[in-house]
Amino acid sequence: MRKKIVAGNWKMNTTVEEGRKLAAEVNSFVVGLENNDIGVAIAPPFTHLTEIAKSIDNDAICLTAQNCASESRGAYTGEISVGMLKAAGVKAVILGHSERRAYFREDYKTLAKKTDLVLEQEIKPIFCIGETLDEREAGIQADVVKKQLSESLFHLQATSIQNLILAYEPVWAIGTGKTASPEQAQEMHKYIRLVIAEKYGNDIADNLTILYGGSCKPSNAREIFSQADVDGGLIGGAALKAEDFGALISSF
Ligand code: PEP
Repeated sequence: MRKKIVAGNWKMNTTVEEGRKLAAEVNSFVVGLENNDIGVAIAPPFTHLTEIAKSIDNDAICLTAQNCASESRGAYTGEISVGMLKAAGVKAVILGHSERRAYFREDYKTLAKKTDLVLEQEIKPIFCIGETLDEREAGIQADVVKKQLSESLFHLQATSIQNLILAYEPVWAIGTGKTASPEQAQEMHKYIRLVIAEKYGNDIADNLTILYGGSCKPSNAREIFSQADVDGGLIGGAALKAEDFGALISSF
């Protein structure tokens, strides 16, 4: 059975102290859950990771980073390597988020390198794909996600790809309050699974967790998460309030 996951991307929000408090609230919610089949991840800013690792149950919550360097060490001022993240207790890294692709010009080659480094350290990439509004309006969303998958991930062996989590995040739905309809989300998730199956076979595709991201909130999550190929969500804004994030976790 595919793992269901709710992952919170805090982006560049909260101070360390605010983050520690938020993580502690999420932790008490998660530890009190009866259904342990739902994976919960939080991705605070880099500066918070060590502190938060000390204040959560690291078996119950997957401590996640929002990014990593595309090199493993050396003279790269301001960068944070995957090895450093691992030593801080990180178990997953978000890669290919549309904000990193758009504002920091991360291209498919950089993302392929980062994916390799993350997998080498036995950390899980949460790899984001998704089309812009122009691409959706042009009707080329399927081609866009196929290209994103094939350019950055299809050099991987089957044994590696199965350690990945995918997140379909239509760019037009991120932080805009506009959510993909449950049908639009299902259509894309089904297609993504088909593309994975064509390359790696049905077994791998059927077992791959694919999250939906884009203005998910307690009022719309239940319907989206109940779609056959949607295995949970990557959550931005609603992950910053423990109550909303808890309600999202309870949406399955
Ligand atoms: C995101 O940034 O991955 C995201 C889904 O943000 P939001 O939920 O705020 O749209």
